[in-house]
Amino acid sequence: MKFKVTAIGTLVVGTVFILWSWYHSTPWEWLLVILLLFVLILAYGSFSIGFNFYLSSLNGKNTTEKLVALTFDDGPDSAGTESILEVLQKHQAPSSFFVIGSQVLKNRALLQKIHEQGHLIGNHTQNHSNLFGTMGVARVQKEIENCNQAIFDAIAKKPRLFRPPFGVTNPNIARAIKNMGMECIGWNVRSLDTVVSLNEKLVKNLMVKVQPGAVVLLHDRLKGNAAVVEALVIELKNKGYRFVRIDEMFDVKAYE
Ligand SMILES: [Zn+2]
Repeated sequence: MKFKVTAIGTLVVGTVFILWSWYHSTPWEWLLVILLLFVLILAYGSFSIGFNFYLSSLNGKNTTEKLVALTFDDGPDSAGTESILEVLQKHQAPSSFFVIGSQVLKNRALLQKIHEQGHLIGNHTQNHSNLFGTMGVARVQKEIENCNQAIFDAIAKKPRLFRPPFGVTNPNIARAIKNMGMECIGWNVRSLDTVVSLNEKLVKNLMVKVQPGAVVLLHDRLKGNAAVVEALVIELKNKGYRFVRIDEMFDVKAYE
């Protein structure tokens, strides 16, 4: 719904802009404007995973059933993951962890613990490189393969579910995922816990955004997140939500 409003808004503003510039500019200026708009659309497609521009990712489920999938990215982390696990265990909230291969190598026992406690393990690349969006197909595949191998060495299972760093998507990433038979997982509720530290206000904002079938993006690498995650879990429980892993939410296989 939110996407539709954004899309229609962009279309209206874009059309007005084009008509305006057509009226006021020389043909060359006009061409430049069109090119600029085109580049902007492509860039927006790369950075907005919910846009499903280059590949179709699972971002949320259309349902009336009160299901919610909490997802934790960038772990396993020696500072943050343990306390998040305690909260999830205490409230019986199965969740999904999209882990970084290099972190897995450093925190193997922690990854095993996440797995043993019944949470889903997904792939979040080997290095979470800032340049991930600029890599060619072969390098993207290597990033995913290495992460899968690190996970396999720890829990003897190879993930099928992949979440790109920063939610970035482009034709190379789409190709790599397809080649490897992986499934791309996005989100439709962003906590912004990496931008502002989680607090009561953030939980309130999150509660407004969570609808049945929501996939919530959180991070377990942040110290101090556990208390707020607990507040969120309690609020959701009180509203009658049931916590499900990504594989249950979308009826997909978690591992090869
Ligand atoms: Zn990440």
